[in-house]
Amino acid sequence: MVIVMKAGAGQAQIDAVLARIKELEYTPHVISGVERTVIGAVGDERGKSVLQTLETLEGVESVVPILKPYKLASAEIKKERTVIRVGNVEIGGDKLCIMAGPCSVEGEGQMLEVAHAVKAAGAHILRGGAYKPRTSPYTFQGMEEKGLKLLAKAREETGLPFITEVMDTSQVDMVEDYADILQIGTRNVQNFALLKRVGKCRKPVFLKRGLASTINEWLMSAEYILSEGNPEVILCERGIRTFETATRNTMDLSAVPVLRELTHLPIIIDPSHGTGVRRWVPPMACASVAVGADGVMVEVHNDPDHAWSDGPQSLDLPMFAELMTRLKPFADAAGRSL
Ligand code: PEP
Ligand code: MN
Repeated sequence: MVIVMKAGAGQAQIDAVLARIKELEYTPHVISGVERTVIGAVGDERGKSVLQTLETLEGVESVVPILKPYKLASAEIKKERTVIRVGNVEIGGDKLCIMAGPCSVEGEGQMLEVAHAVKAAGAHILRGGAYKPRTSPYTFQGMEEKGLKLLAKAREETGLPFITEVMDTSQVDMVEDYADILQIGTRNVQNFALLKRVGKCRKPVFLKRGLASTINEWLMSAEYILSEGNPEVILCERGIRTFETATRNTMDLSAVPVLRELTHLPIIIDPSHGTGVRRWVPPMACASVAVGADGVMVEVHNDPDHAWSDGPQSLDLPMFAELMTRLKPFADAAGRSL
């Protein structure tokens, strides 16, 4: 249910509503808007009609059911778009957010060279995997904590906050200590224990779409994180599995306008995993901006032909710099700065 407070409602009235929601054994989530406060009351769907009685409390304007199965993720509860701040970077604001870096952290030389290059080209967030979900157990599995330390060093040298993947609940404490944003990979989109655990973190969570997730299922996964108390979820479309084999995945760009209608959460596109082919990344990155994404995540490597993972889809350093220039008119046309 959404409890809409009157425009002039005071803190005492809000507190009384929160207390009553807890008494009814629901969990309140306060969403402070520019004009008024809205409170989401979530919990057991059976019996939620008792919440209707909140209408009689002082300062309450209305109590309306949220029709979508995802509640806190829904645009029904929050009309304004969510803007997530990471250091000086905003994700979901007017300025596009460009995340770039290697698929995997491979060593100090590689990580620092790529970090400095993407920073010089204008990237806002550095990426790099220290724990890698690989299809084969015989391929490189990631540098683990050593990789996190190298990402932290790259952040120190460049000032770029970094995003990195966490694959398992047992890794969350450590990854949260180092990283600025926690990435949940496509294969973990319905790892509900992991979603609940990162829902307790005080760092933003970057939730990739499952390679076979419908948009509804994906938003339900976001709801797991939000319902545990972490309001900072970023959605990332990275391509889905279809019958098409020419591209590694099929990049569902229509997800962007659909999501902009259904949710207030920021939306980032990953054309690297979306296409799997280096030369198709720049056109699809431009298309992502044109269609209204809040930013893109791109894999970049100093020597992509020798990368330890995802080399074929990684841009080299000059290609990334060129992409940043190429994105500019698309950003302008979409009314966004870069
Ligand atoms: C990655 O970002 O390198 C990655 C493994 O992504 P995904 O989970 O989308 O495959
Ligand atoms: Mn990758």
